[in-house]
Amino acid sequence: MQAQVQVNNVSKVFKGSGGDVVALKNINLEIPAGQFVCLLGPSGCGKSTLLNAIGGFSLATEGDVKVDNKLITEPGPDRGMVFQEYALFPWMTVAENITFGLRIKKSDPAQIQKTLDALLKTLKLTEFRDRFPKDLSGGMRQRVAIARVLALDPPIMLMDEPFGALDALTRRSLQDELLKIWEESKKTVIFVTHSMEESIYLADRIVVMTYRPGTIKKDIMVTIPHPRDPSSPEFNKLKADISRLVMEEQERFQKVQISGSTGD
Ligand code: ADP
Ligand code: MG
Repeated sequence: MQAQVQVNNVSKVFKGSGGDVVALKNINLEIPAGQFVCLLGPSGCGKSTLLNAIGGFSLATEGDVKVDNKLITEPGPDRGMVFQEYALFPWMTVAENITFGLRIKKSDPAQIQKTLDALLKTLKLTEFRDRFPKDLSGGMRQRVAIARVLALDPPIMLMDEPFGALDALTRRSLQDELLKIWEESKKTVIFVTHSMEESIYLADRIVVMTYRPGTIKKDIMVTIPHPRDPSSPEFNKLKADISRLVMEEQERFQKVQISGSTGD
């Protein structure tokens, strides 16, 4: 069977005054529909660049991305993007933010209302529906951002460190809500994080990336059943394995830096 998302030999070079940065090199990745994939790696290893190539926000300099066998050249309704910073419209209420895309599409008002009510309930936002983003906590704003993407019901959710700015408790509750939504909706989720623990808590599959140029260091399937207990031996065993891989990368990068070449 054809994978839903196909990343074929993708490389990305950023041209700059200080020289070129090879952000991605020869990335090959096939993601079947419904999988929850985490892209894991230290800051600067090309996670966002890869996600943006899949989202169609910034295209690869070599290779291509296909979704359902269709070449990606721009963003589209099949791929919803949630960013780390809360990209909400400050002049719109929670309800208006969530329904924005549906109103643009001129969906049936009764249907919009129904979708809104369901999303407010799922993301525990019902009592905040008439508030403006500035009057919400970070966690609430990120709930709105997720609801706004879910309103359009994209089969693929692209999430770039969406919980990175949240405190630990809020982060855990949003992770649990996301898992619930994923289990019920059967969406494909491609989730960027630099947190090993977050990736093991969430993903079916963890793609560990190397540092400059970004390549795939290891592709790991996680079979621990949900809900996962971060204090369990199996969780910690996996964390130790992944930690070793990430440390290896960090050491390699430090050596490259000391010898005067960044490998760019
Ligand atoms: P990550 O998301 O893993 O932190 P990024 O994908 O943002 O990493 O960046 C990968 C590399 O590409 C970094 O070295 C970064 O400095 C560089 N880079 C990212 N975006 C640009 C850009 N628009 N112009 C130049 N260099 C960029
Ligand atoms: Mg990033």
